[in-house]
Amino acid sequence: MNKAIFPGSFDPFTVGHENIVLRGLNIFDHIVIAVGINSDKRGMFTIEQRLHFIKEIFKDEPRVSVETYTGLTVDYAKQTGCTHILRGLRTAADFEFERAIAQVNKQMSGLDTSFLLCIPEHTPVNSSIVRDILHHHGDASMYVPVAIREEIKQLSQKR
Ligand code: ADP
Repeated sequence: MNKAIFPGSFDPFTVGHENIVLRGLNIFDHIVIAVGINSDKRGMFTIEQRLHFIKEIFKDEPRVSVETYTGLTVDYAKQTGCTHILRGLRTAADFEFERAIAQVNKQMSGLDTSFLLCIPEHTPVNSSIVRDILHHHGDASMYVPVAIREEIKQLSQKR
């Protein structure tokens, strides 16, 4: 089975992430969305909330699983039987950043990274802009997947 890991912080999961996973399913039999736990970085949403959002989005897709991990992505990828790492690219800056990581990951583990270019309308979408909009009580609906729009809106109103 061709299984890929899609690692990230997903704070929160956006339409950009969703699109990469959906298109990744045309290439891979199974995708593990892996939320990295970084104890140095306190996010806007808790790890439990991020997991819950992603599970909600893919609740009808048995070929997607959602997990958390600590440590090196390549170690976790191997533990879970993944044969590839999936990443999304928006800009040349993304490419430069991702290139080094992918090359080091390949050297360390033999695992290849597959990149999917985002669709043009998702180029400006990123989790930190969504966080900023929510922080200032703005409407970030168009940047978050339909399945979690209402929940994110309610959570941001309570802040
Ligand atoms: P990280 O903290 O590792 O950058 P993110 O949660 O920001 O993780 O993103 C995870 C992956 O999703 C990365 O490969 C990133 O390039 C990709 N990604 C983020 N936003 C988009 C987008 N709008 N379109 C396509 N890919 C995206």
